[in-house]
Amino acid sequence: MVHIKSAEVSTPDSAEVLGAVAEGVQEFVMSHHRVTWPVCGEHGRGLHVGYFHETAVWKCAGGTTDGHVVSAIDPAVQL
Ligand SMILES: [Zn+2]
Repeated sequence: MVHIKSAEVSTPDSAEVLGAVAEGVQEFVMSHHRVTWPVCGEHGRGLHVGYFHETAVWKCAGGTTDGHVVSAIDPAVQL
């Protein structure tokens, strides 16, 4: 179980926990440093957490209408 601010995540799904943690870190960086992180190297847009094949990933809304997956949040996962 992971607590982020008032949100509570209770799931056996490690991808969901990772996604929630990544969103928490992203919110922290944005509010404390006023920096958009992470950013797509291709489009210069802020990324958001998404899920791809049950893996938590960073997605960019640029490019195609569906956007594209930039990378897995877990550095151990290769897409
Ligand atoms: Zn992009």
